[in-house]
Amino acid sequence: MPEGDTLRRLANRIDERFAGARVERAAMRDPRLVGCDLAGSVLLEADAYGKHLFVRFDDGRTLHAHLVMTGGFEVGRPSREAEWKRRVELWFESGRLTGVEVPILGVLPTIEEHEIIDRLGPDLCSPAGPPDVDEIARLLTADAAQPLTGALLDQRCVAGFGNIYVNDVPFITGVNPFQPIGSIGGLSDLVAVGTALIRSNAERGPQNTTGRRLQTDARWVHGVGRRPCPICGSRLEYRSGRQTPWQRSITWCPSCQPTRERADVRMDRARRLIALHPAVKQAVFPPASP
Ligand SMILES: [Zn+2]
Repeated sequence: MPEGDTLRRLANRIDERFAGARVERAAMRDPRLVGCDLAGSVLLEADAYGKHLFVRFDDGRTLHAHLVMTGGFEVGRPSREAEWKRRVELWFESGRLTGVEVPILGVLPTIEEHEIIDRLGPDLCSPAGPPDVDEIARLLTADAAQPLTGALLDQRCVAGFGNIYVNDVPFITGVNPFQPIGSIGGLSDLVAVGTALIRSNAERGPQNTTGRRLQTDARWVHGVGRRPCPICGSRLEYRSGRQTPWQRSITWCPSCQPTRERADVRMDRARRLIALHPAVKQAVFPPASP
């Protein structure tokens, strides 16, 4: 799933492979890119903010992409996808960069990137360091009645969380996904746990939320369906994207994540569940109280 960590890793891969290289040939097969020939320009760097990718060129232009649920970039080798799916394709001496089925794609003046970024909350995977989790908690609670998961997906409050983290972070911290965000005690800690997980995964690899089999994308509840809860054995609850106000599927444990009038983030549980994950070594991870 393209979330903030996926985009940060993609930007790093593009940078490592193509920074400083000239585009020898460009094919733009997206109607929104007609007339935007990037051939001849030099790729300066790639960057990400939340789930947005920015590839900057020396002629003052930026290729902007958002992968939504399905899009992707192939870095290096020629793509095997059908030509009509390859919306943008750039040839370099050292390989090829191909955007496949990218739903949001455009070329804009680099100085106008801020018009996209200004609409977003703090970037979870910023290379400058972790965002201020208290500030994110304040932004999230501006609409106190919002269900937790819907709020975490609101990119205007926090940029980078997608379906994996908004399923698994509430599970790890023992909070119900429908809990009104204004009624959660210790919300900053929940944001910090999610931030530590996504930053750690951005640094090291797969979108692993459990800390087990770290080279895999092992998850607690996202995508597992109506199985028994891995902690308490109760049957997990599942709602499809059509059944949630935030239009993304959700899985949770009714016993581990009960709805309450006021719910406290359970850091004891979080520390136990992800004890083996390198996220607990991130500076942003909440310190244990003495
Ligand atoms: Zn459970």
